[in-house]
Amino acid sequence: MYINKRVLIKLSGEALAGGKGFGMDDNAINNIAKTIKEVHDLNVQIGIVVGGGNFWRGRNQDDMDRTVSDNIGMLGTVMNALRVQAALEKINLETRVQTAIQMNEVAEPFIVRRAIRHLEKGRVVIFAAGTGHPYFSTDTTSALRALEIGADAILIGKTGTDAIYDKDPNKFDDAVRYNELSYKEILTKNLGVMDASATSLCRDNNMPLVVFGIDNPENLVKIVKGEKIGTIVGGDNDK
Ligand code: UDP
Repeated sequence: MYINKRVLIKLSGEALAGGKGFGMDDNAINNIAKTIKEVHDLNVQIGIVVGGGNFWRGRNQDDMDRTVSDNIGMLGTVMNALRVQAALEKINLETRVQTAIQMNEVAEPFIVRRAIRHLEKGRVVIFAAGTGHPYFSTDTTSALRALEIGADAILIGKTGTDAIYDKDPNKFDDAVRYNELSYKEILTKNLGVMDASATSLCRDNNMPLVVFGIDNPENLVKIVKGEKIGTIVGGDNDK
């Protein structure tokens, strides 16, 4: 995995909730912010996609229309984006939040050329409100934004695990850990890493991915420095 210019970091809602599982955890967020600054100090441009599962998951709400539920989910990601922005600015990183659903009083609209310009100027760009469309996830958003901004790779931080396994390592002692995988294997083995649309998008466009444990945020810095952490997906593995 060679990251020399630009990365897309996916921060799930769970990562921002720390051990609490719901809402925001200042300590967890500040720790992540600190390592993002370390990555920035390596002269790597950073785009971040934030999830919203610490507030709401559209597909889990049975008593309402899915479109409405997903809209609520996307708004949850905006709250997370603003919180991450505050944490990064507190440690003197310049940032912009861009939203896929327009809310001009709160943040810029998503405009890819503008995002790239910000990145080139050293600003961290936080992409909020997912794709702006229901029935998608922030994993698909990560794949999309990574391709749009021309990232070298997507780095997905997972909580409660440090890599991709064939089954939940917290429940099964015999779970097999993968150091490298192809997107095809993720799809055929039905590994619950990302949803199928995100996986296909990455596979079709040859976008490398690293899945790592965000419980230890320092992993982010190690990956960017070239250490083999977590599971590396795609790139040469899919050829
Ligand atoms: N969401 C959506 N469209 C998108 C991205 C997200 O409708 O393009 C909604 C969806 O309801 C999802 C919620 O926002 O459940 C939070 O996103 P996600 O579950 O991907 O967050 P994560 O699991 O990464 O915290």
